[in-house]
Amino acid sequence: MKLEKGKTVVGFAGLGVMGYSMAGHILNGGYDLLVYNRTKEKGLGLLAQGAVWADDPFSLAEKSDVVITMVGYPKDVEEVYLGARGIVAGARPGTVLIDMTTSSPGLAVKIAEIAAEKGFFPIDAPVSGGDKGAREGTLSIMAGGDAGVFEAMLPLFELMGKNIVLQGGPGSGQHTKMANQIALASNMMGVCEALAYSKKAGLDPETVLRSISGGAAGSWSLSNLAPRILAGDFAPGFFVKHFIKDMKIAIEESERMNMDAPGLKQAFSKYEELAAKGHENEGTQALFKLYGE
Ligand code: NAP
Repeated sequence: MKLEKGKTVVGFAGLGVMGYSMAGHILNGGYDLLVYNRTKEKGLGLLAQGAVWADDPFSLAEKSDVVITMVGYPKDVEEVYLGARGIVAGARPGTVLIDMTTSSPGLAVKIAEIAAEKGFFPIDAPVSGGDKGAREGTLSIMAGGDAGVFEAMLPLFELMGKNIVLQGGPGSGQHTKMANQIALASNMMGVCEALAYSKKAGLDPETVLRSISGGAAGSWSLSNLAPRILAGDFAPGFFVKHFIKDMKIAIEESERMNMDAPGLKQAFSKYEELAAKGHENEGTQALFKLYGE
């Protein structure tokens, strides 16, 4: 399948924090864009720029050459792909189906198998880089699927991201994203603990960040989320509830592989505590609230 600007129709489902910006890049990149979201209001800005609305995943898929999804949870992925009015029911053979949601590797494999039987070309392609990466088109994209399909889709991926890597067959994009979330889990605790420690020690945490962000402890979270914490900005970003969903998948996968992951489990229990206190719809930087604001 060859992409052609002005001819290829891209259908995009899921216009939240991430999907809205990602779909916008595709429209600005010169492709015809069809959009669908559970809450239509979130798509109005894109419709004003020339995107066309589809009433459900079925209608989106039947008019699209490439379908991209960026919904919330694995159950949402299952619903938009495999539901009665879902993508698999609506798409024409030859359609490329790209799920960019962070979802379970097992579900990616299941969808890939069903898709292959029906003559679709599936790719799992979750991302990292946050709301900022989505807005700026600088996401890391970790893909799983057929190499030829991946290469054919590169011009679309390049509109949304910078570091775009095929990791292997179906499900390997999602496994790579789990490795990313495992690294992030301990890192988020480290960021919050470093800030809390700096305050207790009577230091100016902003000045501390100037020293430690560029050194061996540097990370995306330290550079981007620690300043939000210091500014009292706990808006998502990346929802606490979605991070909990990711860590649950990563714990299930690591247990399935008989691997212990104590850092991941500790972060998971901290984030569960945070959600139980009513912060599940805030950004992941709200973890700092457990350390005393
Ligand atoms: P979000 O703001 O909640 O966006 C998800 C969107 O999908 C919402 O607009 C939602 O509709 C729509 N949706 C969910 N289920 C649907 C369904 N069954 N049918 C139709 N539409 C549905 O979340 P987000 O922050 O963009 O994250 C999206 C995915 O990317 C998640 O899997 C997340 O873990 C992952 N991710 C997020 C980040 C980040 O920094 N935000 C970074 C990397 C990966 P409504 O508008 O009705 O809620």
